Amino acid sequence: MAKQEDKFKKVISHAKEYGYVFQSSEIYDGLSAVYDYAQNGVELKNNIKEYWWKAMVQMNDNIVGIDSAIFMHPTIWKASGHVDAFNDPLIDNKDSKKRYRADVLIEDYVAKIEAKIEKEVTKAAKRFGDAFDKEQFIATNPRVIANQEKITTILSRMGKSLEAEDLADVKALIEELEIVCPVSGSKNWTDVKQFNLMFGTKLGASADSAMDLYLRPETAQGIFVNFLNVQKTGRMKIPFGIAQIGKAFRNEIVARQFIFRQREFEQMEMQFFIRPGSQKEWYETWKETRMKWHNSLGMGAENYRFHDHDKLAHYADAAADIEFKFPFGFKELEGIHSRTDFDLSSHEEYSGKKIQYFDHEINESYVPYVLETSIGVDRMFLAVFSNSLVDEELENGSTRTVLKLPAVLAPTKAAVFPLVKKDGLPDLAKEIIDDLKWDFKVAYDEKDAVGRRYRRQDALGTPFCITVDHQTLEDKTVTIRHRDSMEQERVAISDLKIIIDDAVNVKNWLQKMK
Ligand code: ATP
Repeated sequence: MAKQEDKFKKVISHAKEYGYVFQSSEIYDGLSAVYDYAQNGVELKNNIKEYWWKAMVQMNDNIVGIDSAIFMHPTIWKASGHVDAFNDPLIDNKDSKKRYRADVLIEDYVAKIEAKIEKEVTKAAKRFGDAFDKEQFIATNPRVIANQEKITTILSRMGKSLEAEDLADVKALIEELEIVCPVSGSKNWTDVKQFNLMFGTKLGASADSAMDLYLRPETAQGIFVNFLNVQKTGRMKIPFGIAQIGKAFRNEIVARQFIFRQREFEQMEMQFFIRPGSQKEWYETWKETRMKWHNSLGMGAENYRFHDHDKLAHYADAAADIEFKFPFGFKELEGIHSRTDFDLSSHEEYSGKKIQYFDHEINESYVPYVLETSIGVDRMFLAVFSNSLVDEELENGSTRTVLKLPAVLAPTKAAVFPLVKKDGLPDLAKEIIDDLKWDFKVAYDEKDAVGRRYRRQDALGTPFCITVDHQTLEDKTVTIRHRDSMEQERVAISDLKIIIDDAVNVKNWLQKMK
């Protein structure tokens, strides 16, 4: 645990020190759970968004994008169910006065049992060596089986009581499991209450006529209310999708995990409209497609897993999360939801407008079903950033801190250095930059010894360093150094563009999805 916490602290401080993420309003002591993306962070974030947008919109001729407004008619949030049901169960510890999400307290308890299982497996793997069969061990070891059963019982009881809004039972479960407040260590809990996560605001200048609005808690509704507009003007035929990237706001009860859970964040959502009855098939297809997208980035298949929901939201008939191994354990990164016709039917009812699709193939009108994929940009950022940050032992006994970002997402693709600040080398380096910058974000650095400059770029995640030296003046070649292998090679200036492009081109990365 301590190791995990140290790693997470390192991630947060590295993000600040290297200009990726700053606390919002820092000079005023910050604003809780709100963050600003800094000069390198914004580049990484934009690259993540581009990587998603290209995979969704550019590569699929039946998916189009929109950018709808954050302010929307307030009735939309009645129709979507957010006014009545977008709640989290809240519980306070009377001694520490700290507030928690009741379901998260229980999930954290379950995570501890999972950690025990994991430990048991690691121990057995060591004991049995090569002969170890993990699946068989999990299926037969009595302690593991007992712990698995305990997890299932706890989660299914929690799921049932939350679904039935039986908050007294959620509290009873917390008491039975003897869960203590991590701060005070006491079991002195208040009752569990529901807390609505939407931020309210007002539209209009005069107090009498002002209209109560909400800041959108998800981007999906902007897509649903534009379904007909897009379908008609784009002459879209089912199945088709509408994608959107945009800000969302949630007044989260507990937001202590850096950019993982913020009050203002960004989502990349895609709603895929399908024929009723085909949802199971599309659910599987999109689960698989989205997992391929993640794996195309090469961050290790073992760091992802599916988590199928026991407790379904009011709109869903199936739902799964893609969980990622963050520094604080496996947590939701993306959700894939089979939303049935809940949203469009509900907007039909509340707006009084017919929202249907005439399917020429079967000569029928219907309210389409919806398959949703929804991922947080900020969580993706944290996944990529934390997974890439490593302290590497070098052969000479020293260590280097390197941010092994997938090159396609790296903020700066190459840094160009003159070996020394004289003899025309800086001018030549700048000439190279002037040429490369049309295609890539490149940086110039002439300060300190080249070794230190390499380390600086390693920590920033720059895939290539290019050094201009005296030989360059004679034969127009430079040294290119690769971030991950630290290998150096002598190449012609005229080849730089091809070498860099090969490593960072979105096409080369997305093709791994095939
Ligand atoms: P959680 O259970 O962690 O609160 P959720 O199930 O409410 O998440 P969804 O409503 O499915 O999340 O939202 C889709 C995605 O948006 C999530 O998978 C996550 O990546 C992102 N997301 C949701 N809430 C936040 C938040 N407060 N801060 C950052 N990203 C978020």
